[in-house]
Amino acid sequence: PSEEYENLRRRIYSNTKEIWYYINHEIGKLIADEVKADSLQAILNQVADRKRSLLSDQEKLPELDGYKEWRETEAANVSELVQRRLKHLQNPPDCRDARKVICNLNKGCGFGCQLHHIVYCLIFAYATERTLILNSKGWRYNSKGWDYVFHPISDSCTTSYDDKVMPWPVSYDAKVVSLPFIDSISQKPKFLPLAIPKDLAHRIVRFNGDPASWWIGQMLKYILKPRTTMQKAINETIANMNFKSPIVGVHIRRTDKVGTEAAFHHIHEYMTHVKDYYDQLELTRPVDTRRVYLASDDANVLEDARKKYPEYEFIGDASIAKTAATHRRYTPLSLAGLLVDLHMLSTCDYIVCTFSSQVGRVAYEIMQTNRVDASQSFFSLDDIYYFGGQNAHDRRALMPHTANAKDEISFQVGDLIGVAGNHWNGFGRGTNKRTNLNGLIPWYKTADHLVLYPFPEYKQVPL
Ligand code: GDP
Repeated sequence: PSEEYENLRRRIYSNTKEIWYYINHEIGKLIADEVKADSLQAILNQVADRKRSLLSDQEKLPELDGYKEWRETEAANVSELVQRRLKHLQNPPDCRDARKVICNLNKGCGFGCQLHHIVYCLIFAYATERTLILNSKGWRYNSKGWDYVFHPISDSCTTSYDDKVMPWPVSYDAKVVSLPFIDSISQKPKFLPLAIPKDLAHRIVRFNGDPASWWIGQMLKYILKPRTTMQKAINETIANMNFKSPIVGVHIRRTDKVGTEAAFHHIHEYMTHVKDYYDQLELTRPVDTRRVYLASDDANVLEDARKKYPEYEFIGDASIAKTAATHRRYTPLSLAGLLVDLHMLSTCDYIVCTFSSQVGRVAYEIMQTNRVDASQSFFSLDDIYYFGGQNAHDRRALMPHTANAKDEISFQVGDLIGVAGNHWNGFGRGTNKRTNLNGLIPWYKTADHLVLYPFPEYKQVPL
């Protein structure tokens, strides 16, 4: 299928949702004000039925357009190509001679945040053709280091010997450079997320609706390979769970996150979207059990959910959540639990989560490597997808817009709008880069602006 066709198909799909967000929000307000609440709720239910039917039909299009197998093959081929390039980069013929970048795994944050730190380093390595050396002695999850839990990110090159290490940014082409955390990097390189490699972009967009997270997922695929002992432990925990499709993953991030970096969300906010998913699925197939995989760092959530929603089957491990909720969070045991949760969430058919949490975003990024296109297989209650420390995320105006209300902004076709988020009510917030005005924008009149960066093309690696 052509790129234009794929873009159009995705646009119709996403704008169908936008109509719903708008109506739901506006009518919801009237209901809250008790203006003819019963009849408005009845209207809303009718609109919801029609929305689900429209989305369900559209989801069949890529199944039936004759390109299903092509997409699957292409997705596998591009992924394998990226993995081969990374392997090539990480295993230079002469390690002593190779240019390198050093990444210290001493970032004092959770595992999701640390994974993203390594992703940033690996993208830097790929962009500058330097082998990535990961220093992880004294790592908070296992003091013996990363390689004790996961396969090393290189088989043959894991030290910079005694070469001089220069902190980035360097004024000359130093052989070995070390990276700061992405939050404090000066002269932020343009190749950092959400940029994707130009030489692959036109292939990726033809099978995936969110190439930036697909690309980040590819980095995780390379990095995240548990060793046999860890993999066995994960498999044993999983074997005891009744994990069967259809299943929706729910990630509820609470404890230290609430009130500092994210708002508290009640279980029913997540379950509304789970219900919507199953109501839509039932239009095309019978669902015997509505299964939910529930992951959380709040030890009480699982019991609470089972009590409040007896018509659902909740799968999850309360002891994992309990470990995650306590001061034992940064131990090998808690890491094992988190790996189970990440694996399960990313294997679910759909995820409901908060993208303010790195755990939620990592689950989605891994999901993007598990299937051809996971870009419509999640709902985030708060943020749109982002990479911590990323370069500007812009949307491009496809239609002109004249502000209708005082908090809206106007734009012309082609304007770039730096976006802060979608309010899931038909509008998002952004700054028009031409006028410098900040305000609400009707989301459907804009489309994601993909940043293509001329990464090295690794011509030595066979296609
Ligand atoms: P963020 O703080 O949510 O953005 O993500 P981080 O990964 O940086 O830190 C959160 C930490 O809390 C994780 O690394 C886990 O240790 C723990 N955690 C949060 N949510 C879960 C969960 O659903 N399951 C488990 N096992 N641990 C979690």
